[in-house]
Amino acid sequence: MKLFTEIQPLVDFIGEIRLKGKSIGLIPTMGYLHQGHITLLKNSVSENDISICTLFVNPTQFNNPEDLKNYPRDEKRDLSLLETNGCDIVFSPNVEEIYHEDRVVNFNFGYLEDIMEGKFRPNHFKGVGLIVSKFFNIIQPDRAYFGTKDLQQLVLIQKLTKELNYHIDIRPVDTVREEDGLAMSSRNARLTEEEKVQSLILFQCLSMAKEMYLKNIDIDEIRNVILDKCQKSTSFDLEYFEIVNTTSLLPVVNNGDDQHVSACIAGYVGKVRLIDNISII
Ligand code: AMP
Repeated sequence: MKLFTEIQPLVDFIGEIRLKGKSIGLIPTMGYLHQGHITLLKNSVSENDISICTLFVNPTQFNNPEDLKNYPRDEKRDLSLLETNGCDIVFSPNVEEIYHEDRVVNFNFGYLEDIMEGKFRPNHFKGVGLIVSKFFNIIQPDRAYFGTKDLQQLVLIQKLTKELNYHIDIRPVDTVREEDGLAMSSRNARLTEEEKVQSLILFQCLSMAKEMYLKNIDIDEIRNVILDKCQKSTSFDLEYFEIVNTTSLLPVVNNGDDQHVSACIAGYVGKVRLIDNISII
């Protein structure tokens, strides 16, 4: 496995790989890896000659400086995990290598910035769009792997890829969960044992919503049941719960109207912000 911290040597090395006609899979991550990330990597390893992981805690996607400061990091452990799981190249640049003070380009993702994650994390997706397109341009992979755990991010990147004509196949990967249902996340490392148990409420809400939806219960009623459950919890501070069309992410109005439906939830357990979603149909 080769480690790069600078853009130009990486680009030169990728040029040589390309000359040999090899395919490249990209897995962008912010590090502090878990089995969710490793599943993305394994999918890439099975579909490409060369797999490249990025480890970069992207400052432009953090709307809260405390959150950025507290984001867990352990590069040594990450590198060892990547090596044992078949990663060929790691790109782990510092912030100065990626961003210059005089930068002016800004993304605008329209309505996607006003709903769910966009609404509660102002400018988050502008930062995601910027870093992902930088990695797409630097690495020019054939395929790029993203988790459905971050459904809104996935939809946004699918749109970015289509609208900016990147010749990259976006490969979604299902959410990997702990045995009890908690979606794996680097942020889970900041939860106490007690908070880990309290965090199960996210998956419980999503599972309840799915069950109710499949029983043809009205969307308003499902919402009321879930909001009520969250209000009664003293350890979970709900930010949003939505039942949405999986393609547009716009709210579903009537049960049965949409072909693909997902339930999405976000909120705080203690000081840790958690998000999750589930595919209903
Ligand atoms: P992050 O390091 O949190 O930015 O995540 C990097 C990539 O891993 C993103 O595409 C995430 O959607 C994906 N990911 C994060 N958690 C999971 C999980 N539990 N299962 C599958 N993919 C995940």
